[in-house]
Formats: sequence, structure tokens, C-alpha cells
Amino acid sequence: MNFKMEIMIKRRNFLGAGLFALSLPELMLDLFNDKKAHKPIVIATWKNTKAVDEAWKFLADGKKAIDAVEAGARIPEQDPNDTSVGFGGFPDRDGHVTLDACIMNEKGDAGSVVFLEDIMHPVSVARMVMEKTPHVILAGAGALQFALENGFNRENLLTDKAKKAWEEWKIKSEYKPKINVERHDTIGILALDNSGDLSGACTTSGLAFKMRGRVGDSPIIGAGLYVDNEVGAATATGLGESVIKKVGAFSIVEMMRNGMHPDKACKEAARRLLSVKTKEPFQVGYIAVNKKGETGAWSLRPGFAASIVDSQGYRLVNAKSILSE
Ligand code: ASP
Repeated sequence: MNFKMEIMIKRRNFLGAGLFALSLPELMLDLFNDKKAHKPIVIATWKNTKAVDEAWKFLADGKKAIDAVEAGARIPEQDPNDTSVGFGGFPDRDGHVTLDACIMNEKGDAGSVVFLEDIMHPVSVARMVMEKTPHVILAGAGALQFALENGFNRENLLTDKAKKAWEEWKIKSEYKPKINVERHDTIGILALDNSGDLSGACTTSGLAFKMRGRVGDSPIIGAGLYVDNEVGAATATGLGESVIKKVGAFSIVEMMRNGMHPDKACKEAARRLLSVKTKEPFQVGYIAVNKKGETGAWSLRPGFAASIVDSQGYRLVNAKSILSE
């Protein structure tokens, strides 16, 4: 009898004769065989090549998706040249770099920090909120206090480049984010690991020159990120106010729960943005992955892309868009 047939017979026994038809080692073997079917994959917003490469190292090593997404998100957070995430992020209109991040694991646990200052890795603070506290969100001074109490160092995150950009911005003080150009580079990162478990993370310095205290979609569970290990995961980038109004990431996961392919679900969520009224044209990009490792990427306007790594290697996927400009 070949191995597959044996497993099938065991499964039939399991279904037909009940749980006790299988001994514990047999049951574990059966479950293990199911898990082997999963193909790990990581997908992130924009051309975040180094982030997905870093996350992939974890997945390729058989490590957990939660560790992969955290490690991936930390790459742009520490990059001074990335002006929309962490260190080097463009400040608010008063010259302060304020950070938002969240993370979700395969158990449906969630952690988030909003309006956090002076900490290089908000995604790791969000993970600690998830793992060490009974809460989901810590904000501002409380989030900073929690981070400092848990071994994070206080650092100046305003680089000379970001300070110069802010000083130039102040001359006109115009608040007109440019589509795809001005700081819409938040990283949202989703991973499916070898065990078939999903996790996701999202981290940003938010919109450049925003009002002080403004929080976007990125740290809001259900808006900027949502993970349901039974179904799939989704994340967003772009004008956070619009994503929040449509509860973007959660809506995509719900559509996948109802049987939609991730690509169709991202398309439908992007289409729903058409009814959001704003003074200036805006951009939003969505990405998603389901339990099978199938992915999707759509945006409202052209110019959005997603970075993917799986066993085939790295690829940059240009997302389709609802509008043509
Ligand atoms: N979604 C982010 C926010 O609104 C911005 C971005 O994607 O860059 O804060």
C-alpha cells in the first residue's frame, strides 16, 4: 500500500469510525501530512525588496510567519532613506516624527501602537503590546513609556534629509499629498509559513506633514491590516482616512471568506473607494493572501506595486488599478 493510500484509508476510518479509530501517532502523522501541503510565501506593499527577502529567510528556515513579518517590517523602519517608515520618516507639520504600527498572529491576537515617538521599531513594540499586555492599542506617551520599560531605546528619528524637507515644506505649508510620490510607502507585509499559518504587520510614519496627533489606517486592526488564520490576510497603503472609512483590510478578508480569490477581493475593496469624497485625488493600494498562498494586489490609481517572495524567488508585481490615472 502506498503512503498516500494509507493516509486516505486512515482518514476514512477517522471519519467513519470516529476519533478513536486512529492512534495518537497516526493522527499526528495525518495532520503533519496536511501541513506539508502548504507553500510559504511573503507579500509586501511597494518595492520593499529587502523586507520580503529578510522575511523569506525566516520562512525558508521553517520559522513562524509572525517572526517573518516582524523581521521584514523592521527593515524599512531602520532605513534612513525610507521617508515614510520609522527612522528617516518625514515628520508632522510641527517637525515631530510620529509612528503607527500593528501586528497580528495566527491566533488572531493583535497589538498596535499609535502616535509613538522616538522609537526606531514600532512594529516590535506592537508585538510586545500583543504578547505582554491585556490590551490591543497603546498610544503616544503611554506607548513610549511601555517601550522604554521594555528595553527599547529612545532615539532621534528625524534625519537631516527629513528635517530639510520639512523646512522646505514650511515655506508654503501646503497640505497636498502627491499621489504615489509623497510618502505613500508604508510597508504592509503578510506571510504564510510552512505550517500553513498566517501573520501580518504594518508600519508607517504616516502622511508627511500631517496634523500633529493624526493617526492613519496602518495601526488600526481591520483597516490597515487584518489576519484571519482560517481565511487569509490583507493590508493597505495610501490615504489612511479613506482606508479607515471602508475598513479596507477586514472587508477583503471577509470577501475571501465568502469564496473570493484574493485578487478579486482586493479589486472589489479598491472599487469601493470610488465613493470616498476627498478634496484632492488620492491613492490606496491593497494586497492580500489566502490560506492556499494565492495573492492579490489592486489599487485605486495606477502606480502601486507589490513585492513577493516564494520558492520561485522574488518578483515585483505591478498592481492593476480601478482608475486609469
Ligand atoms: N496609510 C498610511 C497612512 O495613512 C500612509 C501610507 O500608506 O504611506 O498613514
